[in-house]
Amino acid sequence: MALPIVAIIGRPNVGKSTLMNRLAQVQDAIVYDEPGVTRDRLYKRAFWRDREFLVVDTGGLVFGDDTEFLPLIRQQAMTALAESTAAIFVVDGQQGLNGADEEIAQWLREQSVPVLLAVNKCESVDQGMAQAAEFWSLGLGEPYAVSGIHGNGTGDLLDTLIEHLPSYDEIEENREIRVAIAGRPNVGKSSLLNAFVGENRSIVSPISGTTRDAIDMLVERDGKPYRLIDTAGIRKKKNVEYGPEFFGIHRAFRAIERSDVVLLVIDALDGVTEQDQKLAGRIADDGRACVVVVNKWDAVEKDSHTIYEFEQTLRSRLYFVEWSNLIFISAQTGQRVEKIFELIDAAAEQHKRRVSTSVINEVLEEATKWYSPPTTRQGRQGKIYYGTQVSSEPPAIALFVNDPKLFGDNYRRYVERQFRQALGFAGTPIRLMWRGKK
Ligand code: GDP
Ligand code: GDP
Repeated sequence: MALPIVAIIGRPNVGKSTLMNRLAQVQDAIVYDEPGVTRDRLYKRAFWRDREFLVVDTGGLVFGDDTEFLPLIRQQAMTALAESTAAIFVVDGQQGLNGADEEIAQWLREQSVPVLLAVNKCESVDQGMAQAAEFWSLGLGEPYAVSGIHGNGTGDLLDTLIEHLPSYDEIEENREIRVAIAGRPNVGKSSLLNAFVGENRSIVSPISGTTRDAIDMLVERDGKPYRLIDTAGIRKKKNVEYGPEFFGIHRAFRAIERSDVVLLVIDALDGVTEQDQKLAGRIADDGRACVVVVNKWDAVEKDSHTIYEFEQTLRSRLYFVEWSNLIFISAQTGQRVEKIFELIDAAAEQHKRRVSTSVINEVLEEATKWYSPPTTRQGRQGKIYYGTQVSSEPPAIALFVNDPKLFGDNYRRYVERQFRQALGFAGTPIRLMWRGKK
């Protein structure tokens, strides 16, 4: 999830890192793997009321003389501010107003990002008010008297801060869908990537992924952002000699882990191989959504039965992701490449989907009526009391039962099939959690 970023800006030693730790509350919650995060700055996860965000410390630099290094501080702050939704400008209430503060403030006033002014090191409330008052002159609105060390005043600061941050729902709505293109060498992953990126309707920009050489690509379609995970890994393999066993599977696994939706690319000429199955298994285990992309369809000799038979064979061999949608394309000619995005959207939507408890229990009632839970030889019968969705991405449904041991694999699969039949969930794995009474 792309969380909003709040930049902490100010001269060295005013207490930026102390305040940042206070806001983050959870110590050591340093964040590396969020979208938009660059590795050369320190980010921590923070939350206040119903809002979650990342705080980034723009400092961490040690300077002898503030004024001399002001351009450097400003440069750090500028880059941090460019990616931020809001900023907190920290000044030192004990030291009082300072020329460098005025310069930074002037620069901040020219920026479009909302800025809150935190007057730090105000331990006592009354004194703090007095200390803070002189900072009105910076022209950044109300100075908030706070103490990073003791925590006073931070609640008021945070209350105002979150007014400038998007809510969880807004974040979810606008966040990019993360797409991994996975498959064996030579199935056509880079060709597909080129077809995506070459489309003149897409806006493309490279962004850094988690590891040093993982470059993601941001692609925009009809105003919607998609993040293609580790495109460097897809392109890199040229000029590398592969043994028969090697296919960069760990790199593929890492990309799958970071994605919402995996495009599992299959070579139509080869059909489903063991390596494809391995990837499919991983996608299901990791709980990612999936679209099976059968490439090189242009090179297959077809008659009217081909697609149908082909699909049956593929599905049975890809049983780990049998719930996926499947599309036949040619990355080379561009045939149906455009359509893939519709399937990505559909899969992502199902992945995030939430179903009400009443609907889940209707399905359960229906399912148990058609086919009652098994009874043991001793006459004990499985009973499902009720079910409720406990999380999404992928959807997970907890089923509260008298004793999970009474439900064998067959019955569990039956119930899962009933859920799929009634509720769809095409494109996403679902998890059923059988929970007994404590
Ligand atoms: P930064 O360089 O802006 O990140 O500042 P630091 O967080 O490293 O703090 C600089 C110094 O100010 C340290 O000695 C802190 O202990 C001290 N300090 C930070 N916050 C407070 C505070 O709220 N009250 C007081 N009295 N000292 C503080
Ligand atoms: P990657 O290793 O998965 O990235 O695969 P490439 O994109 O490098 O493609 C491997 C080979 O398959 C190249 O020779 C491509 O020209 C060929 N290829 C890729 N897509 C198609 C396609 O849609 N149709 C046909 N006939 N060949 C393709």
